[in-house]
Amino acid sequence: MSYFRPEIDAMAGYKPGEQPQAGKFIKLNTNENPYPASISVATAVASRLEQGLARYPDPVGQSFRVRAAEVLGVEPDWILCGNGSDDILTILTRSFVGPGQWLRLPTPSYVLYKTLAKIQGAESEEVAFNKDWTLPETFGIGGPNLRLAYLPNPNSPSGTQVSKDQIRKLADSLPCPLVIDEAYADFAEDNCIDLVKENEKIMVARTLSKSYALAGLRFGFLIAQPQMIDQMMKVKDSYNCDSLSIAAATAAIDDQAWVQANRLKVIATRQRMTLQMREMGFDVPDSAANFVWATYPGRNLKAVYEFLKQNKVLVRYMEYPNWDEGIRISVGTDDQTDACLSLIRMALDQQGN
Ligand SMILES: *Cc1c(COP(=O)(O)O)cnc(C)c1O
Repeated sequence: MSYFRPEIDAMAGYKPGEQPQAGKFIKLNTNENPYPASISVATAVASRLEQGLARYPDPVGQSFRVRAAEVLGVEPDWILCGNGSDDILTILTRSFVGPGQWLRLPTPSYVLYKTLAKIQGAESEEVAFNKDWTLPETFGIGGPNLRLAYLPNPNSPSGTQVSKDQIRKLADSLPCPLVIDEAYADFAEDNCIDLVKENEKIMVARTLSKSYALAGLRFGFLIAQPQMIDQMMKVKDSYNCDSLSIAAATAAIDDQAWVQANRLKVIATRQRMTLQMREMGFDVPDSAANFVWATYPGRNLKAVYEFLKQNKVLVRYMEYPNWDEGIRISVGTDDQTDACLSLIRMALDQQGN
């Protein structure tokens, strides 16, 4: 017999990408940024530390909200800070989806939403992308007890984007809020922040983990209309972000010059990587993120993944029912990317034609 709620006994935990603590791996498996964060982040943490940590942090992270609001063109009360965007997604799921109710997500996509639904005792419904990574209209059609829909945009693992026009239409037809998970939007040409102003049902989740090179910091945020933010303030942990991370995040978002320069470097490497993978025969959809998704029908990509791992390069191997297996490779520095590409060439050569 178990002391746990049946939902917890029944569920498998979310499995993050491998984080080897030993050995010198080139890590291209969890879409971390290969470059160091803005130096102003370390300075801000050091100076905040000097003031000591005896006091509780600001419960809403106001310094971050003020600076982020300026950068994004909204008001501070349109922003909710979180301990990583995973915390934001947890707050959203707890706020909108109760036991027995439904949450919708596309597939293949980010699977954490399903785990969050299970913890709530809620159900999740997956709507498959079309083979060209466009989203079928059925994603916007209501279902009984549908309470929340998640759409990562750019999507992972594909790196592809759904158009803003379609998102506007989806939100109009859905009976529930639509969360656009923009973890990778800083690497794309477009984002949905202006849609938040048009429709309270559209909310945008962001993170500093990828485009600010701060995955270890744990800071994410939500952009939504203030009446939506107010409700979610009731659901979050009282002190969900600590003083050091609020100081660091404020400094990070303040340095937009760093973000722009980093974005251009990552995009240039992404383009180069995409072309070279295609030359090797892979199918690679155009990516708007800091990774590429590569499939190669007829080849054994699990073996390619294993060969890379033996040679200390970690990428993500993924299989989804009814889809070709694929590898998702994060954009590294130019050297890391070149090392990965030449190992992939060797792996394919070993397999022969
Ligand atoms: C990486 C990622 C996140 C998680 O970001 P954290 O802020 O590190 O929790 C959320 N959504 C998607 C789609 C991601 O790829």
